[in-house]
Amino acid sequence: MARPLALVTGASAGIGNAFAHGLAQRGYDLVVVARDTARLDALAKELEGANDATTEVLTADLSDVGQLATVEARLADADRPVELLVNNAGFGTAGHFKDLPLDREVQEIALNVVALTRLTHAALPNMVERRAGGVLNVASIAAYQPTPGNATYGATKAFVHSLSQGIHEELRGTGVNCMVLCPGFTRTEFQQRAGVDSSGVPDFLWQEASTVVDFALKAFAKGKAVCVPGSLNRATAGFSATVPSGVSRRIAGVIVKRAEK
Ligand code: NAP
Repeated sequence: MARPLALVTGASAGIGNAFAHGLAQRGYDLVVVARDTARLDALAKELEGANDATTEVLTADLSDVGQLATVEARLADADRPVELLVNNAGFGTAGHFKDLPLDREVQEIALNVVALTRLTHAALPNMVERRAGGVLNVASIAAYQPTPGNATYGATKAFVHSLSQGIHEELRGTGVNCMVLCPGFTRTEFQQRAGVDSSGVPDFLWQEASTVVDFALKAFAKGKAVCVPGSLNRATAGFSATVPSGVSRRIAGVIVKRAEK
């Protein structure tokens, strides 16, 4: 029997890389997507060596509509159907919205929101037809409240959080799942790429990418709609979801102002 196939975006680093490894260990073949071909090629070798996972490298800048279209076409291909789509590629920007270069903010929306939406839309028809598999979208605990200092980032993740849960309900009874994963601080290249100094974040708040992926894949296998990995992240998300947004927004604003001093 052919191994199931998973497509992971942003597989060249961080959480996406850990997803590729975690899925290969669980018997999946992979399509790995990102911009850095050399890193994807190295990953493909590792996966084939360690887990016999046949790995297809698909280089694409997902914030570019033309390159995104090649990945959409791959997902729509019914000959070697993708059983699991992991929409993981994303980045953040930090600073006051009015001061940040607008093009970068728009690119953030193009990747975190538009690419994820288009890829989900391309993947679902085959999955529903086959009554199997699903989509795992990576948001953040930032989805649970407005995020001054990362206003666009939080807004993109709130979109992913809402979209994924809406789709989850629409898919009820189809045999296909859509789950949103909301990690907290995770040791990856994310903070460095966002230009954030996270050296002041205490050790106990950090998780390894492999831990986040273990939580996510277990929750997905159970058909969950939402996965917030770890009790501390669940408490943070639960607090933000419970208090009025005016309160969580102001607390976040005060924390950001202090950090800026
Ligand atoms: P990361 O280590 O910076 O990895 C980001 C991945 O996205 C890389 O593989 C990168 O590959 C890819 N990527 C970036 N821009 C791309 C583009 N335009 N087209 C295609 N691929 C692109 O960050 P990470 O922490 O693993 O982030 C993964 C996801 O987790 C993101 O959605 C992020 O928002 C979310 N998240 C992270 C944290 C955290 O603390 N780390 C917390 C909550 C949520 P290339 O550079 O090769 O393209």
